[in-house]
Amino acid sequence: MRDPFGRSITYLRVSVTDRCDLRCVYCMAEDMTFLPKAEILSLEELERLCGAFIRLGVRKLRLTGGEPLVRRNIMSLVRGLGRWLGPKDRGWGLDELTLTTNGTQLARYAAELADAGVRRVNVSLDTLDPAKFAAITRWGRLDQVLAGIGAAQEAGLRIKINAVALKGVNDDELDRMVAWCGDEGHDLTIIEVMPMGDIGRQRVDQYLPISMVRAGLKRRWTLEDVDHTTGGPARYVRVRETGGLVGFITPLTHNFCESCNRVRLTCTGTLYMCLGQEDAADLRAPLRQSDDDGLLDRAIHAAIARKPKGHDFVIDRRHAPRSVSRHMSVTGG
Ligand code: SAM
Ligand code: SF4
Repeated sequence: MRDPFGRSITYLRVSVTDRCDLRCVYCMAEDMTFLPKAEILSLEELERLCGAFIRLGVRKLRLTGGEPLVRRNIMSLVRGLGRWLGPKDRGWGLDELTLTTNGTQLARYAAELADAGVRRVNVSLDTLDPAKFAAITRWGRLDQVLAGIGAAQEAGLRIKINAVALKGVNDDELDRMVAWCGDEGHDLTIIEVMPMGDIGRQRVDQYLPISMVRAGLKRRWTLEDVDHTTGGPARYVRVRETGGLVGFITPLTHNFCESCNRVRLTCTGTLYMCLGQEDAADLRAPLRQSDDDGLLDRAIHAAIARKPKGHDFVIDRRHAPRSVSRHMSVTGG
């Protein structure tokens, strides 16, 4: 699948539910309204849809949410998708199946995930301070997530920690997170807050530019530029003292769109061709209209042909940021 700008689309992110067991302050409002169950694709439908993308050239698939591991029976989808991994004697297949999780359910699922062929997971963790963790997530428990990370390590999964940089909240702790990730052998990605969805407060309160994060880390650590790229928006450095990788995601201050290889599917079968744009394609109708995949394949190709050149997030310190109306939990980041 090639888009109009010659970019090859090989990476599908699938939000399997918009629900979550946490309410991170930068992601959701406290009193979120979630989609009625009737609107949500069944796991079998999601698997068929993912299968179509894989046949059309997707090589990497990430499950996300909401919280992917709170969807009932999620392991049946993971196991089904895991069958696409491995030798590609059919001429197509997945190189990687992975997920982004808040880690609360990892203690329960880590071994099964590894068994299904998952090799790496991203765990979102913005702080190592239990009280701050409870405040950021509104009611989460840090020890539960740390136990989940421990279980994932034991199951042999590689872990990347995703931390959102939050002004006045965890900016004083990022040094400690670099040290902890170094000790534990986790890579770390630090993400700027993106203006997505109504969260009941001004985003500029939370916004901390990655340039400042980087400058702060440089006071304590030696950051060496590396070529390492995942094809995504992160720019990586190696921390000489720990040997660990630290990635920086700066969607608001830099343009990473020219190398974008990804599209995002929601749990209702809506395909977003760009995280920062409203345009979307409905794949649920062609999916349900016929068991013949021809219709679905044509709808996917038509959507990819509409992938825009780039996003237009704008943040301005004097005004409220121009935001995208959907929450991050709809497309999963
Ligand atoms: N619940 C899972 C988790 O937290 O990892 C998966 C979904 S969550 C929406 C995916 C990622 O998006 C998390 O790393 C989270 O920190 C990040 N995120 C959520 N809202 C964000 C925002 N407004 N700006 C930047 N990152 C955000
Ligand atoms: Fe849930 Fe992830 Fe959003 Fe936090 S960031 S509220 S864990 S979906």
